[in-house]
Amino acid sequence: MAKRKKHIKDYSKRNYLSVWDSDIKFIDKIKIKIPLKLLLICNKIQEQIGNYEFSLLCKGNFDENGDFILSDDYKIVKQRVSASQIEYNQEHITELKQQGYNTVIHSHHELGLEDFSVTDDEYINKNFLCSILFVNKKFAKAIMNICIKDNLKLRVNCEIEIMFNYDEEIDTSNIEIYTLYNKDYSYLFFSDKNVNKRTQSKTKNR
Ligand SMILES: [Zn+2]
Repeated sequence: MAKRKKHIKDYSKRNYLSVWDSDIKFIDKIKIKIPLKLLLICNKIQEQIGNYEFSLLCKGNFDENGDFILSDDYKIVKQRVSASQIEYNQEHITELKQQGYNTVIHSHHELGLEDFSVTDDEYINKNFLCSILFVNKKFAKAIMNICIKDNLKLRVNCEIEIMFNYDEEIDTSNIEIYTLYNKDYSYLFFSDKNVNKRTQSKTKNR
């Protein structure tokens, strides 16, 4: 009997935690935030060269929320292009990658597919942390390659958001803001998004 007691463990409450507190943040999607300047630059390049592909490299970093923020620093890598293909100068692209250019943007101009091709996946997408497709005047698609272990990466489709940063203050004194009564809101809101806002607003004011 005495022998048995010796092996009984102490299961008192202090050995257990109902919540394992931790500072780790979790995200279930990655948003790539792109400065408006890069969109304007891509449109300008396309306007200058016509319906040919092109590519440029830029730099991005994750912020504390898990969003991948691109700076407006970019380089046009030396390249040979046709309407459906890009050939990079290996020496130049290697040099730029060493300088921290971890993101590639390439264009399918106005006539191409709004999706990465098999060749893109094989030659462009897998060589950068982030790859963005520019087509028909906009950024249409973006992926990131998240490292799981050596020689194994998880490819993730990402959301794209354009950052409309504009530093100069604008004089808005001619705009007078006033609040409508709730009953008048129905005339103003028509999209699903705004219907939700209206519902929230009504709930708040109850
Ligand atoms: Zn492509």
